[in-house]
Parts: sequence; C-alpha cells; structure tokens
Amino acid sequence: MFRFYINPDTTQNPNGNNEVHREGCHKLPFGAILLGRYNKCSEAVEAAKEAGWTKADGCVHCCKSAHEE
Ligand SMILES: [Zn+2]
Repeated sequence: MFRFYINPDTTQNPNGNNEVHREGCHKLPFGAILLGRYNKCSEAVEAAKEAGWTKADGCVHCCKSAHEE
C-alpha cells in the first residue's frame, strides 16, 4: 500500500483539477492533503471523488494509469 495525497490548489493545473499524488512523487506539493493508503492510483482517485473532490485526477508523473487530463 502507498500513501496518496491530493493537491487542494488547482491554480497551477491547466484543467483546474486536483492532482492526486503517490508518496515520493517529485511533484508532490507542499500543503498536499493525505487521502489515505491505497494499493493503486485509481483507488485513490475514486476515494477522493467520493470524499467530494470531484475534480480529482491522477498526476501524470506518479499516477499515469489514473491520469485523464
Ligand atoms: Zn505525482
């Protein structure tokens, strides 16, 4: 399992998404919020959406399998 984090700041995202990152990602921003521990990115993104982060999207670097835009 890995810890996944969500970036509450969408101002740096071209699509206005809240990027979801896996622990250790070099793009993990300061101030990211811990979502919890999941086996894979898609689970973390789904959990984020259920928690109300409707614009959650996987980071292109660490969550490529769950990256949509
Ligand atoms: Zn990342």
